[in-house]
Amino acid sequence: NALLQQLAITDGLTGLYNHSHCMDRLQHEAANARRYDNPLTVAMLDLDYFKELNDTHGHPFGDTVLVDVAEIIRSGIREGDVPGRYGGEEFILILPNTSLEGGLVIAERIRSKIESHTWGKQGVKVTISGGLNSLQNGESTSQLVQVADDNLYRAKEAGRNRIMPEQKA
Ligand code: C2E
Ligand code: C2E
Repeated sequence: NALLQQLAITDGLTGLYNHSHCMDRLQHEAANARRYDNPLTVAMLDLDYFKELNDTHGHPFGDTVLVDVAEIIRSGIREGDVPGRYGGEEFILILPNTSLEGGLVIAERIRSKIESHTWGKQGVKVTISGGLNSLQNGESTSQLVQVADDNLYRAKEAGRNRIMPEQKA
């Protein structure tokens, strides 16, 4: 039934799509993008210092941050954009009909919203790093995600709380 189908594709904590559904959707969107020659962009977004956050404030607090970050992501994107929880503290955004430049606008908007958000009476602050990539001719979906992840790694290396590749002015 419909409820069970919904549960099977949803991440229990955040309500975003789960990893396996995101991979299915990515295949589907990549097939469409190739067929109709439309752009497809993927953004990987990862909370900075999440382990330290859990260690300092406890796991229930960490979970609250994940839920709130998921809501910030979900509420600031278009209907056709696909937000998912890729793993522990890593989120994926599948952006059909969106160029790399468009993806950078979205990722930067999300980064900035999270940077300005505070949690609890102590005003705890959290940041995210992001890596993007757009589908190239002949590129597989695993390569598409791999390069986005490489860019995420570069964003972490460069000091976190930033999106790679950097936006051109
Ligand atoms: P902008 O906010 O500077 O966004 C520039 C471009 O980034 C957009 O061009 C689009 O290609 C991409 N983009 C931005 N946000 C999203 C998103 O959440 N999902 C996807 N898939 N792509 C996104 P576009 O479509 O030509 O829009 C031009 C401008 O129109 C936007 O500039 C913004 O100022 C305004 N706009 C369009 N739709 C909305 C909307 O739903 N809400 C708001 N507040 N503004 C919108
Ligand atoms: P939606 O397309 O599902 O977009 C949901 C939210 O994602 C928007 O809420 C906005 O916070 C963010 N967003 C999406 N695209 C953009 C963008 O290009 N730039 C920026 N800065 N933010 C973006 P918002 O603005 O309250 O809009 C609610 C709904 O109103 C949108 O849902 C869309 O259906 C419609 N809408 C608003 N502005 C435009 C527009 O310029 N063109 C079109 N075609 N629809 C718009």
